[in-house]
Amino acid sequence: MAVYLDNNATTALDERVLQAMLPYMGQVTGNPSSVHRFGRLQKDAIEQARESVARLVGARAEQVVFTSGGTESNNLLINGFYQHNRGSRIAVSAIEHMSLLEPAQNLGDMVDIIEADENGHINNSALEQAVDERTSLVSVMTANNETGVIQDLSLLIDFAAENNCFFHTDATQAAGKIALDFAGSGIHAMTVSAHKLYGPVGVGALIIDKRLPIKKLQFGGSQEKNLRAGTENVPAIVGFGKAAELAMAEMQMNARKMYQLRDALEKGLKELNEVSVFADRAERLPNTLQFGVNGFDGETLLMQLDRKAIAVSSGSACTSGKTEPSHVLKAMKVPDALANSAIRVSFGKHNTMSDVEALLAALHDIIEINQQSAVMMAATV
Ligand code: PMP
Repeated sequence: MAVYLDNNATTALDERVLQAMLPYMGQVTGNPSSVHRFGRLQKDAIEQARESVARLVGARAEQVVFTSGGTESNNLLINGFYQHNRGSRIAVSAIEHMSLLEPAQNLGDMVDIIEADENGHINNSALEQAVDERTSLVSVMTANNETGVIQDLSLLIDFAAENNCFFHTDATQAAGKIALDFAGSGIHAMTVSAHKLYGPVGVGALIIDKRLPIKKLQFGGSQEKNLRAGTENVPAIVGFGKAAELAMAEMQMNARKMYQLRDALEKGLKELNEVSVFADRAERLPNTLQFGVNGFDGETLLMQLDRKAIAVSSGSACTSGKTEPSHVLKAMKVPDALANSAIRVSFGKHNTMSDVEALLAALHDIIEINQQSAVMMAATV
């Protein structure tokens, strides 16, 4: 049996989520914008899902705008905010997902980058350096998709508020894994995505406080508070709602289990030669661990593990294929050679301790074989 340890890339659809979606994939028809009973049924299903997603993040239902996923939410936030507030500056952290960083970088010199420290944290002095009186939006993610590092957002939010800036956070990896409190935190916008929490791919949300000035980027309809034109993907939205409900109910149980797996893996890795665990002193998501193996290339290591039927990621799945080191590890000043050897393990609720044992045994073999061949090479020179 193959072992899947890449749950930050995507998770398997929960069977209960699939069952909730199925009626909306055939039996029940109607466009949610239609006023007849068929339409109203679809609309009701969307509104119920909106309540569930709102509960998961501690927001009010009317603050939830459904989108096609984390990427669209981040693009809508950056470009929609910029369209409404031309001339004001935006500060984003150096470790953001590319779906936030790239649209920000496209705005050229209107954007300031907030530096990270060696532990992957964004601290107030870095924020202070990136913000001036022209800045009106700050974006710092809740938890990083590669290292799993969780930010202490409260001080950053306070600083942003004192400087009259709106605050956005990408909580795509945090939602469903740690408790979130949109309403109580002073955050004005938050990104979430269903397929990271056992929901369907292709649906997410931008949670928005109505004080945040933003323009829509897609035209031709008034759906989703007039912020996202287009007929809603009802089965996906229903699935997102169900996944959010389950994530909320099972969060503690899943987190406890994943901490155990993560900690056992971390202990085992530290017993192997040449392995460094990134950001191991920082508070991290319960399911995520990223490490480097001195003298190895991450992509090669990934393929060697794949041959042993173990699926992990090298750096971020969304940027794999590139050979340059991950921008997150670069921002944390990890030396290029070590950053290039990075492997990310991200557990899901279906993993067990035997998956940890299989990974450790595979890594042990791969590293040992490599060291033996290095010794043989040295002997033959
Ligand atoms: N933000 C973060 C932190 C992510 O990890 C991802 C997914 N890799 C995204 C945004 C993009 O989400 P989606 O796949 O739903 O577009």
